[in-house]
Amino acid sequence: MTYSSRLEGFYNLTAGQRIEWLAQVFSLEPSEVDALLSGGLTIEQADRLVENVSGLYTLPFSVAANFTINDRDYLIPMVTEEPSIVAGSSHAAKIVRASGGFHASAEDPILVGQIQVMFEGVESPYEDSPRLVETIETLRSSHAKIIAARAELLEQANNVHPNLVKRGGGARDISVREFFHTRIGPMLVVYLAFDTRDAMGANLVNTACEAIAPRTAELTGGRVNVRILTNLSDRRLARAACRVTADALGGAEVARLIVEAQVLAEVDRYRAATHNKGILNGIDAVAVATGNDFRALEAGAHAYAARDGGYRPLTNWELASNGDLIGSIELPLAVGIVGGLTRIHQVAQIALRILDVQSGQELAAVMAAVGLAQNLAALRALATEGIQKGHMSLHARRLERASTG
Ligand code: NAD
Repeated sequence: MTYSSRLEGFYNLTAGQRIEWLAQVFSLEPSEVDALLSGGLTIEQADRLVENVSGLYTLPFSVAANFTINDRDYLIPMVTEEPSIVAGSSHAAKIVRASGGFHASAEDPILVGQIQVMFEGVESPYEDSPRLVETIETLRSSHAKIIAARAELLEQANNVHPNLVKRGGGARDISVREFFHTRIGPMLVVYLAFDTRDAMGANLVNTACEAIAPRTAELTGGRVNVRILTNLSDRRLARAACRVTADALGGAEVARLIVEAQVLAEVDRYRAATHNKGILNGIDAVAVATGNDFRALEAGAHAYAARDGGYRPLTNWELASNGDLIGSIELPLAVGIVGGLTRIHQVAQIALRILDVQSGQELAAVMAAVGLAQNLAALRALATEGIQKGHMSLHARRLERASTG
């Protein structure tokens, strides 16, 4: 499908006209147009999804314009109730588009699960412990036994997901960490790295961890407790970068103020938290639109921001020697285009058609670019008119529209 994401004048259309445009460009069926008007989930579907369902709750579905990522135009579906997010990212994408767009990539879709192994009657090896040597020996030999059984454990994990293995995914690696000193004694953690292909993969990995847990206990002589994925999916990083001229931003002074704001986020976690919230404004909106688990993304992003013990911004902005502003982002993005809510939510399926991504990895790369655009929009607003002016003018426009019907 070829189209320009430039969407001149889209902003001035009515919501009905925008839906008509989408229906035409993406060949939407009448039932899909109905889904865009009603929200995309029936009460019966909702009732099968979670517990105690007593109604439906809808949010605006929007399309952000102007994105060029890896030399391809993308329309970005977003679900958010917060004013300025769609306009802000579209505006930032327009600025970046003028200098060649975003370059983005994502690592292989590896999700890691962890299995906690406890050892009854084994003490933490504090210096005065009479069983210091014995404890270290238990953990070290258990560690070695797991590594020696790597192939067997990987095969066992793959056996519960034959279809995924046929698609090229499956268990990739086993590793082990020893925690000698905890307040309840020593423990081992076995990590299972799993390629989840186009799925986010939480259920896939949890099932695989549960499948290898009994053999893990047998091999180590320990007792298995927690068996679940980690949301700190730092083997599934997505990255995006862009370079914009100071002129496109509104001048050298704006570029300089953006870098000042960046450095504040680097040194002050009070600012870093809000800086990263702004990034996630965009990423979460795409996650919700495409039926992805935004809580998982939030957990991963914040844990990654705190990976070195401090809490850091997920983006970087600096000036090139010619005065251009160079931006980049890196964060874990475990997202899928199959499974989860995408299986049943009609608007999530439409969102994926609009995005036209071929893999979960491509979706992660696009979302990284959206996060970077959102951050540029927020920093540029802070460096120029301030955040409230943009927020309030959109708010005023909404009120005006509401009052004129
Ligand atoms: P899922 O359980 O729907 O599994 C994906 C399914 O898609 C599998 O059956 C797989 O075989 C199939 N599939 C078809 N084509 C595929 C392809 N090309 N690549 C990969 N799989 C393909 O979903 P999931 O992704 O395993 O789990 C995601 C769900 O788990 C989300 O709804 C999330 O909210 C939830 N969850 C999250 C957490 C967490 O993040 N901590 C914990 C538990 C559950």
